[in-house]
Amino acid sequence: MTGITSPLHDTYRHQGQRRALARELRQRGIADERVLAALAAVPRHLFFEPAFEAHAYQDKAFPIGEGQTISQPYTVAYQTQLLGVQPGHRILEVGTGSGYQCAVLLRLTAHVDSIEFNEVLFARTQQRLAALGAGGATLYCGDGSVGLPGRAPFDGILVTAGAPGLPPALLRQLRVGGRLVIPVGDAQSQRMVRVTREGPESFVREEFETFRFVPLLGASGWRS
Ligand code: SAM
Repeated sequence: MTGITSPLHDTYRHQGQRRALARELRQRGIADERVLAALAAVPRHLFFEPAFEAHAYQDKAFPIGEGQTISQPYTVAYQTQLLGVQPGHRILEVGTGSGYQCAVLLRLTAHVDSIEFNEVLFARTQQRLAALGAGGATLYCGDGSVGLPGRAPFDGILVTAGAPGLPPALLRQLRVGGRLVIPVGDAQSQRMVRVTREGPESFVREEFETFRFVPLLGASGWRS
């Protein structure tokens, strides 16, 4: 899996910064070497405006416009690790934002559907991923809190915005054995939740660390 195929401005310095970031994430507890390799491979600086490139390899979230953020690398690694992506998995990401998380997922499987509510971010990121040659991504503009019923079932659904509860449509769109990873809580903080569909009507819920995300909007989010 390559994910990004275009030859772009990616120097030895950037590559060294990514390797250092991956080492930092390993020290913070990310143990899945495939996930660490994905973060070491995806040029995060290409998801920033050139003026802010210096911030790209700090382990921090950063504004991307429209009141939204590119998630912190630790959070991206943490959610990706919980999702347990295998080659061939069909993944839905809710909250495309900059497209960085989508590019990380594309290092682990050949195709990712990603849906973004904000039209400006959707248009910008569609252009960016096309320029990066991220051919395995299909982007949609709309309310991802109701999923993508026409594309279901998914092996994994990753939500990158904080939800007030588990969106029922996303649970229905998991295949048996599939996982939903979603931050759930109030506006201040959310617990990372993983739900595994063990049978047609059987779901197992696990809770992990606390994070702070921008809100999930839409029908099963915080109403926009
Ligand atoms: N994954 C992104 C990245 O790699 O840059 C970061 C996403 S940002 C933390 C959360 C995103 O979720 C925002 O772009 C926001 O517009 C989007 N969002 C919020 N509610 C949504 C919804 N109901 N459907 C789709 N996207 C939504």
